[in-house]
Amino acid sequence: MPRSAETGKGKPYLVGMSRAELAHWLEMLGESPQAAWLRARQLFHWLYARGASTPAAMTSLPKDLRRVIEENADVARPGIVAEQTAADGTRKWLLRLRDGKEVETVFIPEDDRAALCVSTQVGCSLSCKFCHTGTMRLARNLTAGEILAQILVVRDVLGDWPSPREGRRLTNVVIMGMGEPLLNYREVAAAFRIVIDGEGIGISRRRITLSTSGVVPRIEPWGRELGTGLAISLHAVRDDLRDELVPINRKWPIAELLDACRRYPVRRPVTFEYVMLRGVNDSDADARELVRLLRGLAAKVNLIPFNSWPGAPFRCSTPERIRSFASIVEAAGYPSPVRSPRGRDILAACGQLKTALARPVPTAVPPADAAVREPSPAPLSV
Ligand code: SF4
Repeated sequence: MPRSAETGKGKPYLVGMSRAELAHWLEMLGESPQAAWLRARQLFHWLYARGASTPAAMTSLPKDLRRVIEENADVARPGIVAEQTAADGTRKWLLRLRDGKEVETVFIPEDDRAALCVSTQVGCSLSCKFCHTGTMRLARNLTAGEILAQILVVRDVLGDWPSPREGRRLTNVVIMGMGEPLLNYREVAAAFRIVIDGEGIGISRRRITLSTSGVVPRIEPWGRELGTGLAISLHAVRDDLRDELVPINRKWPIAELLDACRRYPVRRPVTFEYVMLRGVNDSDADARELVRLLRGLAAKVNLIPFNSWPGAPFRCSTPERIRSFASIVEAAGYPSPVRSPRGRDILAACGQLKTALARPVPTAVPPADAAVREPSPAPLSV
């Protein structure tokens, strides 16, 4: 039975299923192939375009079918454990999943757009030195349903259903929360096929950005398949320093990472995230080396003043240092906005996410529905 992952009830979780998976599930319940496809399309619309969170709300489905769904499946949202709103309007929710694990998702409203920063793993295995999430261990990958549920929950809270798409408040998604998305490729890709589907969540791929710390072999496949914008957590311009700050660099060093960016098949500038750490990576020489590395790439550099967290081993660069660094990068033709930290007061800013789940946790648990997904890219050891 597809998508029984982490329901805690033994029932399949329909959120996260594609049309084909929904049709397969309906056929297993006794629908003819033709009827299953028709109903799967309706179900898909109710789940993702209309945001139905109970079978009873799916009023265009026959009553009998709604009862069958009620008895045999789960479409409920994860529970909201906590919600915080920062002085600048940034909102952060802690969601409890069916197995009791928790993830954070962050809503960042701006003047002309509003982005949701979604998580893709519970914890993270990569231990980037400046990142609070990196001090947690990896508990497990999120399923496609758990990734999508973050968007659905936030649309519920914002009252973002079923207004016309152009009027929706949540306009953009950044895949930049807890976890390294390209180490959970299959589930993240399954979720985002539904996000970009015009009959699904319906957010254009142009309004979605995937942020990776540098899982090089999966960057180009993601671009070919999902076609979203790309952001790279760079943070250092020398391998010896990046090996320390972003340890995945030991496996895929800067030159290989930049080659992958040059091959990225989406014609949009690549965004490079660069956290400003006082006396560590913020010299004028670092800025000049960054310019040299980016030569020939359509790129933009986001300079992120370091967002501290309890026990953090770094301090933020001074404003003068950040200005000097930015002016060198700008002078070379690369936009380099200094990102004003959002939600700092509620630990919702970049690199600050961490749930109470700091206690020891088991190592990665694959989703129980692994058999119904397309094959994953070859396993990577990092
Ligand atoms: S920056 Fe991203 S990849 Fe690195 S530890 Fe934090 S969540 Fe993981």
